[in-house]
Amino acid sequence: MKITIWGCRGSMPSPGAEKNKYGGNTSCVQIEHNKTCLILDGGSGIQKLGKALDPEINEINILLTHLHIDHIMGLGYFGPFYNPNCNINIWGPSGSSESLTVRLRRYFSPPFFPVRLNELPAHVAIKEIDNTCFQIDDFTIHSEYLCHPGATVGYRCEADGTVISYMPDHEPSLGSSDFPNSSEWCSGFNIAREADILFHDGQYNNEEYDRRIGWGHCSMDNAIDFATLSKVKKMVLFHHDPTNKDADLELMLAESISRKKFDYDLILGKENDVFEFS
Ligand SMILES: [Zn+2]
Ligand SMILES: [Zn+2]
Repeated sequence: MKITIWGCRGSMPSPGAEKNKYGGNTSCVQIEHNKTCLILDGGSGIQKLGKALDPEINEINILLTHLHIDHIMGLGYFGPFYNPNCNINIWGPSGSSESLTVRLRRYFSPPFFPVRLNELPAHVAIKEIDNTCFQIDDFTIHSEYLCHPGATVGYRCEADGTVISYMPDHEPSLGSSDFPNSSEWCSGFNIAREADILFHDGQYNNEEYDRRIGWGHCSMDNAIDFATLSKVKKMVLFHHDPTNKDADLELMLAESISRKKFDYDLILGKENDVFEFS
């Protein structure tokens, strides 16, 4: 199983020489296993993924966590949508009053985008999920609503004994008065539990977070506590703030590490990083 980060920046693309190490593209992670292609979110990173994708693959599953623009902005620039031989399933949550299809049509329509959803040459199927368990080839996938503004899910993708958890936008300290001491009522715990690799929001340092409580994102300190509670084997910090340069991210992580005790691998998400599991 191969996992590739195509974008791990939060909120908006953020290119620049001082951000080259961790990258400026927004959320997109690819999971390849046997002939299955799962794509987690359609941020700006998905454009590059479309160009690199094996042309033999004609069945693609895109799993959207939510419809904030940084998680869907790359969809219109994803090459396989313009291949009439390609089947693309888009999974994601509905809104409280509108279906996933209606919400996606807003992005795929003028003035935001010139091509409408039903004009895309590929065969596109929209599949709504909520707190759901579903199967894609060898993968058993669980989705569950998370603490984040608007309908947002996290994904737990499991195949051949490997568990990958993906929660790029998540504020777990809200919702449980006992965070991080109890897993009961803790947002995201069922998705992250004992994962081999967890991709998790770590957008802010403690000062920044204190000024942004309720915005739907996480401090690195809280992400570390959440991963400890969830007993993961590795955490990849994700959704880097667009204002933070490479050196800022490394300083934030060093400060968090100096305050926390944990027993798993902890790294900053970096565009083009690849993780392999057998
Ligand atoms: Zn986001
Ligand atoms: Zn969001």
